[in-house]
Amino acid sequence: MEFDWSEGDASHREEVRAFLSEELPDDWEEISKDGPGGDRQAAFSKHFCGRMAERGWLTQHWPSEYGGRDATSWRHAIVGEEMWAIGEPRGAQYMNVNWIGPAIMQYGTEEQKAFHLPRISAGGVLWCQGFSEPEAGSDLVALRTQALRVGDEYVINGSKIWTSYCNHAEFIILLVRTDPQSTRHRGISVLLVAMDTPGIEIREIPSVVGERYFHEVFFTDVHVPTSALLGDENQGWGVVSYALQYERAGAARYARAAVTLDRLAEIARERGLLDDPMVVDRLGEARALCEAARVLSYKVIDLRAKGSPPTADTQLARVLGTTCDTAIGTLALELMGPEALEYGSFADANFRLAMTAGVAVGATEVQLNLIASRFLGLPKE
Ligand SMILES: Cc1cc2nc3c(=O)[nH]c(=O)nc-3n(C[C@H](O)[C@H](O)[C@H](O)COP(=O)(O)OP(=O)(O)OC[C@H]3O[C@@H](n4cnc5c(N)ncnc54)[C@H](O)[C@@H]3O)c2cc1C
Repeated sequence: MEFDWSEGDASHREEVRAFLSEELPDDWEEISKDGPGGDRQAAFSKHFCGRMAERGWLTQHWPSEYGGRDATSWRHAIVGEEMWAIGEPRGAQYMNVNWIGPAIMQYGTEEQKAFHLPRISAGGVLWCQGFSEPEAGSDLVALRTQALRVGDEYVINGSKIWTSYCNHAEFIILLVRTDPQSTRHRGISVLLVAMDTPGIEIREIPSVVGERYFHEVFFTDVHVPTSALLGDENQGWGVVSYALQYERAGAARYARAAVTLDRLAEIARERGLLDDPMVVDRLGEARALCEAARVLSYKVIDLRAKGSPPTADTQLARVLGTTCDTAIGTLALELMGPEALEYGSFADANFRLAMTAGVAVGATEVQLNLIASRFLGLPKE
């Protein structure tokens, strides 16, 4: 088994690093603290992704007919690792290139593909994801937002919650119930909706991850054309399952965690904390978790590169990714002591991000349930 990068891949990583050091402004760390929902990062995302697109790197793993370069999934993974390691300057657009675009490619009509994919590929459009509802988070199939077909339109009523970055988004990939008599997985559809459609109202929810991050989105008699439907009517669960498989392995959290850990080890050395064998053990354990998350993510990328259908390896990679985040976030709190209490400090910022990692994109417990049923053959709860 060969785990090393090819020469071409290794030099691509170097090119991406050189690009990042040229393109990121001196105050990037400050800008990145706002999070992708912040005004500065949202504006920067468009500039930066535009520059990536000029190089052909933003969607290089897409087929050329959709604005890609037919590059391997590995090249895209290298870009993802380098972006996450430095605080994800693509901002909310990491969602576009990892799963919203691929879902449109897989299920979209020719018209939808022609409209949306070149825009995503050019790096100038922000999307958000309207899945969760107040009573439908882990149990997403309990969703109640309705889109009733009236002539050649759908009329949407209901609300979404925890919608990240929607304050700057131009489009939302929206999960709705199109058959009002249906329950659970049946009768669900996906709509691609412009966020400036009349009847959409956004309210911010203050949160531990930072301001302008989470929102509630209300839909009151929102009219959209039936051409907004992605995939077949009432078959949206297949579309969303496809998108979620990409989403769960779409963020190289381990790359960011590894950089944080290096910094933490440096601080521990400067403070003479490495004399404590417990500290050394914990740092080593955290490194092992990062590596496990990385290798499991590579397994998912390998399956994808071979065109194999997704497996529960995606859940394993996801769980390890959030486990290493949490381990490092907690260790930073302990090692930094009272300094960690300062809002926005290194330990505080990391811990707040790590806290939410195990809930976003489906709670860790739910991923573990899936692993238990698929790998251990245990009954589904
Ligand atoms: C950082 C972040 C960003 C997000 N961005 C978006 C977004 O852009 N768009 C969007 O639609 N949603 C988004 N979400 C929402 C996210 O998908 C939900 O929070 C998640 O699915 C959990 O749903 P919930 O919050 O309703 O928690 P609940 O479903 O109420 O679950 C609460 C807790 O109960 C436990 N639990 C629930 N069910 C089970 C079970 N079956 N077995 C064992 N334990 C269980 C878990 O510990 C879980 O954490 C985001 C969340 C976070 C934290």
